[in-house]
Amino acid sequence: MKPDAISIRTALEARLAALGARVEAIEEAQREPLDDDLSEQAVAREDDEALDGVERAAMAEIARIRQAIGRIEAGTFGQCLACGEPIAEARLRASPTAARCIACASDDAD
Ligand SMILES: [Zn+2]
Repeated sequence: MKPDAISIRTALEARLAALGARVEAIEEAQREPLDDDLSEQAVAREDDEALDGVERAAMAEIARIRQAIGRIEAGTFGQCLACGEPIAEARLRASPTAARCIACASDDAD
């Protein structure tokens, strides 16, 4: 069965909303004032650094999802951006934001 662009788009938009909420929650947490206690401040800074990593990962995924939705709108979803061949259905199912086929993506991280 061919992955259905409409249901994939619905799933991508739901994921986009969840990621957007996560980024907002992280930014909210980072706006909290530091504790007066110096050791508490150190812990809070470490937490902020961990959150930065989570936020960066979420932002990168948001960018990939927006690109995938753009490809659905353009009617090129499921085509490899590098070679133009169809991306294997199993790959799209596992990773709907994949922009390249396995052969092209294995050249660098996708
Ligand atoms: Zn390719």
